[in-house]
Amino acid sequence: MIKDAMFWEKHGDRIRCSLCPHNCNIGEGQYGLCSVRTNIEGNLKTINYGEITAIALDPIEKKPLYHFCPGSKILSVGSFGCNFFCGFCQNYSIAHYRAESRYFSPEELIETCRQIDDNIGIAFTYNEPSIWYEYVCDTAKKLKEVCPQYKVVLVTNGYIQEKPLTKILPYIDAMNIDLKSFRQDYYNKICGGDIKYVLETIEKCYDKCHIEITTLLVNGLNDTVEEVERIAVFLSSLDKNIPLHLTRYFPNYKIHRPPTDIDVMQKARGVASKYLNYVYLGNV
Ligand code: SF4
Repeated sequence: MIKDAMFWEKHGDRIRCSLCPHNCNIGEGQYGLCSVRTNIEGNLKTINYGEITAIALDPIEKKPLYHFCPGSKILSVGSFGCNFFCGFCQNYSIAHYRAESRYFSPEELIETCRQIDDNIGIAFTYNEPSIWYEYVCDTAKKLKEVCPQYKVVLVTNGYIQEKPLTKILPYIDAMNIDLKSFRQDYYNKICGGDIKYVLETIEKCYDKCHIEITTLLVNGLNDTVEEVERIAVFLSSLDKNIPLHLTRYFPNYKIHRPPTDIDVMQKARGVASKYLNYVYLGNV
């Protein structure tokens, strides 16, 4: 569904979007880098409002969140579009293509959430939740109004501007934030972004809601013990109890290197555990 977008301003006949740090400058009829926000007659519109491409009841551990409502299940939904361009994306068919979708109004999704037994809430996952910000914000706010006991979870790359993040944070119970590397050149080349904003998101969120961090260790690209150590040192400077998930890369989408060695994964866990109390390996 096409809806008015938030966080933008006009610059002549162009629009500057300020939802994420890309700050796209969008001409009439054009789209931003995320492919879901477009300039229509001088107004910024989002085209994926309520457009759900994937829906499932997942164990909370699959997000992954190991220290938040363990053993529970959560209604998990995603749309299409992303503001990163990771070559190893596991969800590229919805992140970078216009996948088939079905519209759920916020009310319909909340009703679905309430009808499922043993469901703790709604997780916005599969694609980047900030990329359908307006829908996530409307739904989270309404869910907290009608049944505040339900949880709202975001699984995110953390690439969002401070203003929209501040606005949505009061409705969020937990987040899993990707910290894909500790190097700017990795973020530039592999993800198409700037690490500074991701670190700022983690710093802003860690004491406002429950957070856990995921780093996908990609064979030969970001899996040195030095880099993992820098990640662990950064997180421990905020709170030694932030859980870190080191997940193993497998070939996908545009990157076809062999999977990361188990040995490398174990060494990474060893070094991270010197600084953090909870370090987990995933996909091993
Ligand atoms: S949300 Fe989309 S349009 Fe807006 S700045 Fe980010 S990539 Fe560009």
